[in-house]
Amino acid sequence: MERFDAVVIGAGAAGMMCAAEAGKRGRRVLVVDHADAPGEKIRISGGGRCNFTNLNAGPQNYLSQNPGFCISALRRYTQHDFIALVERYGIAYHEKTLGQLFCDGSSRQIVDLMLTEMKRHGVTLRLSTAVEEAAHDGEGFRLRLSNGSVHCRSLVVASGGKSIPKMGATGFGYDLARQFGIPVTETRPALVPLTLEPTMLERLRPLAGVSVDAVVSCGKARFAEAMLFTHRGLSGPAILQISSYWREGDEIAVAMLPGADLFEELRAARARNGRQALQTALAQFLPRRLAQLVAEAEKAGGNLADLSDKALRRIDEAVNRWRFKPAGSEGYRTAEVTLGGVDTRALDSRTMAAKAVPGLFFIGEVVDVTGWLGGYNFQWAWSSGWCAGQAV
Ligand code: FAD
Repeated sequence: MERFDAVVIGAGAAGMMCAAEAGKRGRRVLVVDHADAPGEKIRISGGGRCNFTNLNAGPQNYLSQNPGFCISALRRYTQHDFIALVERYGIAYHEKTLGQLFCDGSSRQIVDLMLTEMKRHGVTLRLSTAVEEAAHDGEGFRLRLSNGSVHCRSLVVASGGKSIPKMGATGFGYDLARQFGIPVTETRPALVPLTLEPTMLERLRPLAGVSVDAVVSCGKARFAEAMLFTHRGLSGPAILQISSYWREGDEIAVAMLPGADLFEELRAARARNGRQALQTALAQFLPRRLAQLVAEAEKAGGNLADLSDKALRRIDEAVNRWRFKPAGSEGYRTAEVTLGGVDTRALDSRTMAAKAVPGLFFIGEVVDVTGWLGGYNFQWAWSSGWCAGQAV
């Protein structure tokens, strides 16, 4: 049986980082992945440009049942460490918005960076290789792979979450955790578009494709980013962000013209030019199709002069205090990440090692640490992968 110091299951962001770091320390490392290409999620990320980290990444940008867990890893390997690595490879990048860093060229450059790092440090990569069985023995783990068996002292689970099953995502990492008696918190799709009830969807159908800079909130969570009406419901960064906090039955509040007192604006417009159509007045603040829909809903319609203060307040409410209950989400089919996962209370926050099973590690998305949209999830993958890489 082939022997390795460490076997990493999953050649994604976390697994490749861990393997390269362990290789750097002279460990004999094997990475296996059932896919036929490494880093597929890196490749498709950020619209092909990979939002590889965020300048402002910190514990406040992550959801977990154990919110303090991520602090240690994020401090030990920061966004600045990863940026320095990207710069060492001469990869050009830019800040798009809100601290989000993207490659100028292609996300493929980040995959190649990680592959080069692994190669430089002697890591063996086996693709199209599934793990069929893992068992603990006295000195480590025996793994039955689809193409042979291997033994390792350390086993690192970097198999990601359930999002995008079409790309081979499975619940493998959660099953493995349970097999070793490690608890898993409830998992659900996150960073995912939300769907609407059929009647509301029908009413909003003319808006498909319209985007507004909105403030979207659910409970205490609040995001000021773009919101997009789609033919299935709502999407865009603000909705993806809030989806991580939303639960079935919760109400979502939206301000589509945040920072403006639409009531006062319309009152002033009415005083200036009472003969102006409501739709025309609204179109100065809102996308044309949205202005039209809001005006049509105000059945009194017509000119501003025909509208009472009460009507103007109603319009302001519809635009800036729109409240609704989503019907659901688009699910794992389109979710960018999985919320929840391996319970961090069972892991060492410095090394990602399972406290109760010596030599077993969990890193990246399979762990119950979920980032906001904006490069935070890759940063968690790099940070947690780096920490395990120092410990295997
Ligand atoms: P993954 O990257 O999912 O890697 C897991 C690997 O394990 C995969 O290669 C998989 O094939 C392999 N695997 C799974 N099961 C097995 C098994 N049983 N045997 C062998 N191998 C297995 N985050 C950002 O920060 N910025 C972005 O721009 C961004 N864009 C995204 C765009 C999309 C469309 C999606 C879906 C996600 C995006 N994310 C982004 C989220 C980010 O991709 C993930 O958080 C990140 O890839 C998680 O890394 P990981 O290494 O933990 O898991």
